[in-house]
Amino acid sequence: MSIVIEKFGGTSVGSIERINKAAERVARTKSDGYDVVVVLSAMAGDTNRLIDLATQIHPNPDPRELDMAMSTGEQISIALLSMALNRDGCKAKSYTGSQIPIVTDKVHGKARVQRINSDRILKDLDDGYVVVIAGFQGITDCGEITTLGRGGSDTTAVALAAALEATECRIYTDVDGVMTADPRIVPGAQILERITAEEMLELSSSGAKVLQIRAVEFAYKYGVDLRVLSSFHDVAGTLISSKESNMEQPKITGIAYNVNEAKITVRGVPDRPGVASKVFGPIAEAHINVDMIIQNVGMDNNTDLTFTVDRSEYQKSLVLVEKIMPEIGAQELVSNGNIAKISLVGVGMRSHTGIATTMFSTLAAEGINIQMISTSEIKISVIVDEKYVELGVRALHTAFGLDDANVPKRETAPQQALQS
Ligand code: ADP
Ligand code: ASP
Ligand code: MG
Repeated sequence: MSIVIEKFGGTSVGSIERINKAAERVARTKSDGYDVVVVLSAMAGDTNRLIDLATQIHPNPDPRELDMAMSTGEQISIALLSMALNRDGCKAKSYTGSQIPIVTDKVHGKARVQRINSDRILKDLDDGYVVVIAGFQGITDCGEITTLGRGGSDTTAVALAAALEATECRIYTDVDGVMTADPRIVPGAQILERITAEEMLELSSSGAKVLQIRAVEFAYKYGVDLRVLSSFHDVAGTLISSKESNMEQPKITGIAYNVNEAKITVRGVPDRPGVASKVFGPIAEAHINVDMIIQNVGMDNNTDLTFTVDRSEYQKSLVLVEKIMPEIGAQELVSNGNIAKISLVGVGMRSHTGIATTMFSTLAAEGINIQMISTSEIKISVIVDEKYVELGVRALHTAFGLDDANVPKRETAPQQALQS
């Protein structure tokens, strides 16, 4: 049995017309002789609408109840797509995450998939059905409904591909593939024919939301190859492979940005063992991810500790740090919610030098001040003022020769470019 997973994002099922189009594509894959498992997001805008309703009731809704609300969007799209398939003579059945079940841990709002029971899916495939599964959701061992974090349908698709040992995992979306930068802010961004899972991991973790980070982690861990394709045009898209290609790599594969981070600095902490663990212990216990960390010991032997967190966890982090300040003897807490991170990614960095210098001089030439820097083997990230993010990304895209020569440059990006 050769199983193909086909995942359609919110825009790709955003209207009845698009659902019909997705159904056509699925039916074509089925008639090509594959067993097809479909994973869907909620119709475009539905998850945001549900969150908006919840926050009108309470600014910080109870995470369990928020998951109950948020998970309903996908239940609608799976039912509609199954109806379309059945109407067109292609037998289909829809399932929520809890019906499969897709079992997760208990962390509401960003649960991790622990296991998937494939019995029901395999039985239906055997009986000739297309199985349509709600992305983004699961159930705990205690029967509580969870969600996997924004963009989590990608993770559902990859987890299913691993569990069912699928031949292919296709992620249909509203762009033609993974590009050298977000085409919404860099009009000259080019499609990448192929990218390593390691690079994709760095791009996703740096803010390129074309694939959810956990989906890429899963793919990397289980060696699942993914293809990101357009649901609107017949293009080959991008292959994300766990194997590296033998071809010579460009210096930089892609540029990502993230405007959803915030920076916290604890100043004047007496330099003693255990300070970092006292600050980050409570943050880890609250399941808050810390991104960059910088620690500096000044001339007076006091430490400044600066770190970044996701903006949605900024206030919570500030409260936790404020609580610990008297215990560690910290003098001051400084924070900034208006920062952005720009990251250059590429396995080519391993064999090319001078990339950091080009990055810093390009930003300096645009008058952009760098607030923090962090590097890994295949990534360099900088924190800058949020208002410079588009200018910085575009300047770097040009400086590293990534622009498509056929696309004219644009001076300003569309208004909603940075809104998610
Ligand atoms: P879906 O609803 O299909 O899951 P998303 O909105 O989550 O789609 O992801 C697709 C979007 O990701 C694109 O519209 C694009 O603006 C954005 N994006 C950011 N970085 C990149 C990149 N490097 N390549 C392609 N798209 C990107
Ligand atoms: N509907 C969810 C979201 O908007 C999950 C997804 O689209 O992948 O985040
Ligand atoms: Mg997505």
